[in-house]
Amino acid sequence: MSKKTVYIAGLGLIGSSLALGIRRDHPDYRILGYNRGEKSRLIALEKGFVDEATDNFASFADQADVIILAVPIEQTIDFIKELAQLPLKSTVLVTDAGSTKLAICQAAEAHLGPVGINFIGGHPMAGSHKTGAIAADVNLFENAYYIFTRTSATKQDALPRLIDLLSGLHARFIEIEPQEHDRVTSQVSHFPHVLASSLMNQAGDYALEHPFTNNFAAGGFRDMTRIAESEPGMWTSILMTNPDAVLERISEFQKRLTEIADAIRHQDSDHIWNFFEKGRQIRKEMEIHKRAGVDSFYDIYINVPDEEDVILMILELLRGTSVVNIRINEENREDIDGILQITFKSKEDLDRAAHVIREKTPYQVTII
Ligand code: NAD
Repeated sequence: MSKKTVYIAGLGLIGSSLALGIRRDHPDYRILGYNRGEKSRLIALEKGFVDEATDNFASFADQADVIILAVPIEQTIDFIKELAQLPLKSTVLVTDAGSTKLAICQAAEAHLGPVGINFIGGHPMAGSHKTGAIAADVNLFENAYYIFTRTSATKQDALPRLIDLLSGLHARFIEIEPQEHDRVTSQVSHFPHVLASSLMNQAGDYALEHPFTNNFAAGGFRDMTRIAESEPGMWTSILMTNPDAVLERISEFQKRLTEIADAIRHQDSDHIWNFFEKGRQIRKEMEIHKRAGVDSFYDIYINVPDEEDVILMILELLRGTSVVNIRINEENREDIDGILQITFKSKEDLDRAAHVIREKTPYQVTII
């Protein structure tokens, strides 16, 4: 692409991080931004994520070679309808960042297709519980899947143009059908969020009568419920725009719960053993330890003694390796192998850390 103008609508976590990634490989491109709220608009301007910013969506649309909609899903659909009515460059390419794809792609087919506007759906599969331009991170999408969903409004050049524009994200670009995207993400993302919040709601209610629930909640419970801290607005939008697939996953899961409940009721230990063994084997085989989607990190557990400077010594060994989080698991470690938990961003960092700690210390190191 020669020098282009990119218009990003929504300068939140995703929109601002996309702006940073685009700037990395295309420093000469002009990036314009829209944001409804003043705070993220000002941060994006001050930090240079965008060259100019507006709170009037329509005002920059006619200057854009590429428009990226990075607002909530319902608002993305409204902007698609609005774009169909606006005077735009004939070669403009429109894409989005929404977490569900079918409803957005159907809106593009209904409104942009008939007026000849080039559209391809997009979903960068990385994020965090943080929101707004303040949380922007140029490395947010590193090694994460960035999914494109073709529609009847998608022209031949859409995918190569976007792959070139977004090369600085260092993401893994992949194309699938919008419907298949929504089915797969319902299983690995949308339904797990329902489950995590159900578990938290259940534990919270139970703790009212059994206060030790709070004390004894251990690492396994924490791992299973971490995503219950996600932003409720975004997850409401996701369930509202992917109802069929999520409802199917819920009823299928209800059958599994009934099956294991029956096995417990009938004291069928073989069935229970097979249930756990099957889950264990499938998890081992799944590429779950690679950073390939939303919220995947790499944890190492080190059984360090409670001695002075021991943690400092470990951190000294990790000098130069990027650490995402450090946690000292003091309370209940029933299902965690190690008092010191260190989280890394990539498998390479984790492997390097495990190697050096095993080599230079006598402590037991576990990777899960
Ligand atoms: P965010 O809250 O950080 O940013 C959303 C932006 O949209 C904000 O700047 C806000 O001002 C603007 N906005 C909100 N409601 C609006 C409205 N009614 N009209 C106009 N602007 C409005 O959220 P985000 O995480 O950047 O999410 C943006 C999009 O990216 C969503 O569609 C979301 O589904 C998708 N997404 C999010 C994640 C994630 O984990 N956060 C991951 C992948 C995709």
